Amino acid sequence: MSLIVQKYGGTSVGTIERIRAVAHKVAAARTRGDDLVVVVSAMSGETNRLIALANQISEMPSPRELDVLVSTGEQVTIALLAMALEELGCEARSYTGSQIRILTDSAHTKARIEAIDVERMRADLAAGRVVVVAGFQGVDGEGNITTLGRGGSDTTGVALAAALNADECQIYTDVDGIYTTDPRVVSSARRLDRITFEEMLEMASQGSKVLQIRAVEFAGKYQVPLRVLSSFTEGNGTLITLDDEDDMEKPLVSGIAFNRDEAKLTVLGVPDVPGVAYRILGPISEANIEVDVIVQNVAQDGTTSLTFTVHRNEMKKALRVLEGLQESLGATSITTDDRIAKLSLVGVGMRSHAGVAARMFRALAEHNINIQMITTSEIKITVVVDEKYLELGARALHTEFELDATV
Ligand code: ADP
Ligand code: ASP
Ligand code: MG
Repeated sequence: MSLIVQKYGGTSVGTIERIRAVAHKVAAARTRGDDLVVVVSAMSGETNRLIALANQISEMPSPRELDVLVSTGEQVTIALLAMALEELGCEARSYTGSQIRILTDSAHTKARIEAIDVERMRADLAAGRVVVVAGFQGVDGEGNITTLGRGGSDTTGVALAAALNADECQIYTDVDGIYTTDPRVVSSARRLDRITFEEMLEMASQGSKVLQIRAVEFAGKYQVPLRVLSSFTEGNGTLITLDDEDDMEKPLVSGIAFNRDEAKLTVLGVPDVPGVAYRILGPISEANIEVDVIVQNVAQDGTTSLTFTVHRNEMKKALRVLEGLQESLGATSITTDDRIAKLSLVGVGMRSHAGVAARMFRALAEHNINIQMITTSEIKITVVVDEKYLELGARALHTEFELDATV
């Protein structure tokens, strides 16, 4: 008998019919003899709907109240799923994050899990019940409801699996596994049977929202066997592996990730003296704005310009900080651009092979795609390009690195 944590995403519980279908899947696994803890998201669209309601009241709603509001989405689906299970004669109990005591810090809307009380779940499992837990939410030390960031139900699933020492954490979604790139954007994308944690972490952090980054971090840290599968079709999905096989054997590129969530800010014409980057990025960081890609260039006239990217939601805030600094920096101007996209190649095979970057840049050049910024890590090369070339670039790279599915 195994202990399995299953997580079902928003589309998978998007209608009453689908909740019933999930209940059948859970009940079938239970009949096979497994112990089950099931984490569910809100019905698809519900979290967005709730956020839009809050925005009708306030441009910047209190993060604490936002958490009270958005956590209701998951409270609906846990109750409905538990009812659907009971209808099938499968004993079940639903719990919110605070009832199960998923203890987090107090960083509302992006809280981190600190501890999970497993006693209650263990008692239910021992009594033969399926435990249904609300994803995405927790409670802080003072009893305030918190949420874990968009897509956070993945993290709830993996964290419960880690705390319970489960045999596997299964993430059920609307695609049948992890693909070489988003199959909704590149139709020739190919499903992978396996991908390493390291690669999955880069894919997630570069924009593949199929798994929340923190879920992958958790799974790697606590060595939780993690699998992504379809709620709608049978199959083994994709296993995320703690692989230490020889990188030489690995394909050069395992996947392509992209995102349109960032914006670019440039400070131009600053006298080129030591400390410029610090004087610009120090105040940005003090304003709690996360910076991603950074490029600094010295011009022939001896001035320097610094360009960096931030989340699009924070572009205006970053611009205000820079405007406050412009005079003291002696900068000639500040520009912004939110029509950019990030395109990344990910693969552990890059570690042992040279020339990947040149090949990437050539493929983009052949499609007349201008590269605005470049950043690399051991197993990743990222470029910033004009947003309108994102899909073309993703397809070009997918073909260049021989990732296309053979039909
Ligand atoms: P859920 O609601 O189940 O959490 P998400 O929408 O968060 O589902 O994640 C699934 C989606 O992730 C897919 O529909 C797909 O469009 C997208 N996606 C992005 N990159 C990939 C990838 N490399 N492999 C598979 N799906 C991906
Ligand atoms: N319902 C939350 C969201 O839409 C959490 C999740 O689905 O994982 O972000
Ligand atoms: Mg998701």
